[in-house]
Amino acid sequence: MKKIAVLGSTGSIGTQTLEVVRENGDIEVLAMAAGSNIKLLEAQIREFCPKLAAVWTEEKAQELRMRIRDLDVRVVSGMEGLLEAAAMPGTEILVTAIVGMIGIRPTIEAIKAGKDIALANKETLVTAGHIIMPLAEEYGVSILPVDSEHSAIFQSLQGGQRKALHKILLTASGGPFRGKSRAELEDIQVEDALKHPNWEMGQKITIDSSTMVNKGLEVIEAKWLFGVNVEQVEVVVQPQSIIHSMVEYEDGAIIAELGTPDMKLPIQYALYYPERRYLPGERLDFSKLSQITFEKPDMETFYGLKLAFEAGRMGGTLPTVFNAANEKAVAMFLDRKLRYLQIPELIQCCMERHHNIADPTVGQILETEQETYEYILGRWC
Ligand code: NDP
Repeated sequence: MKKIAVLGSTGSIGTQTLEVVRENGDIEVLAMAAGSNIKLLEAQIREFCPKLAAVWTEEKAQELRMRIRDLDVRVVSGMEGLLEAAAMPGTEILVTAIVGMIGIRPTIEAIKAGKDIALANKETLVTAGHIIMPLAEEYGVSILPVDSEHSAIFQSLQGGQRKALHKILLTASGGPFRGKSRAELEDIQVEDALKHPNWEMGQKITIDSSTMVNKGLEVIEAKWLFGVNVEQVEVVVQPQSIIHSMVEYEDGAIIAELGTPDMKLPIQYALYYPERRYLPGERLDFSKLSQITFEKPDMETFYGLKLAFEAGRMGGTLPTVFNAANEKAVAMFLDRKLRYLQIPELIQCCMERHHNIADPTVGQILETEQETYEYILGRWC
């Protein structure tokens, strides 16, 4: 039995990870962590029988302890609880499916405890890739990408020589507003932005996909995961989401991973790497495929993507500002306190005023995150 821990078990990636566990039947979940969805967490605990469960507030932890008092499960809370779940003795893999920079410290803790990381939480690499990647190398652990594009790149690199990698072709659906002008985006409402054409995902990432900020985060994530410059990452809009990403080698050969949009494939691949297993579900049928088309991304209308390239090129604390400003902007948009087009505007404003710190520590990254939030609260709320 493979043994794992899942941070963010109640979210979109977390629940799909548990589906993969359920369907395979040979993985044991020793620890789970969630934010506040106690009802779902309780159901998951009853089904998967972990030894440890972590929730964010002590109040929710108390509530959970009451609900599962008939079970032998230890309930912990706060960052200490997350760290404990991340480094849970006996686990081989930590699935980081939590959302936000809160994933950095647990990921570091797990690496130091020798766990491989199945990484969905892109904010960790975007903001602290310069710490995470060398640390993983030092401790001899693997960072296995769960993000579908990065999994596709990872799969396309199997068998090839890393040193012969010339370019990464990161595909993007273009989101629900592909082809629209800035004027047409003026009155976009939350409901419109939450309709992704191809993928079912959590709210925050769905908004990020519509603004193409998600693709920007993925560009920076790819830089760290595959040891390339952001200039070596080209975003290719492929609206049908069939090609999940590609790599181009020095000799011009392009290797791609294709399939139906199903996050369970990259999740399962990360959990069993390098083994491939049967995965139930719809398969790509080329006889029914009418077309696969390609476009250049519109970086003027969706300039959040351009800002990400800039943040990725500059490095330091700028990607943290990019990410933190976007997190706050998306939360405010979801609360209907910010207009859609103000999301990139706010990110740009925060990036322009920031004094970049090269090679920041985790403390400096988290301080930068707070400073960005405080600036937004003071000036934009
Ligand atoms: P969701 O919003 O669906 O889920 C987030 C999870 O994190 C929930 O389980 C939530 O718990 C938990 N969580 C939030 N805050 C805390 C906290 N303070 N302590 C413990 N747990 C917490 O997000 P997604 O699953 O969509 O995304 C997760 C990560 O994966 C993100 O970084 C995203 O960018 C990335 N990703 C997602 C993809 C997708 O298809 N969804 C694809 C590729 C990457 P609760 O529900 O209890 O609040």
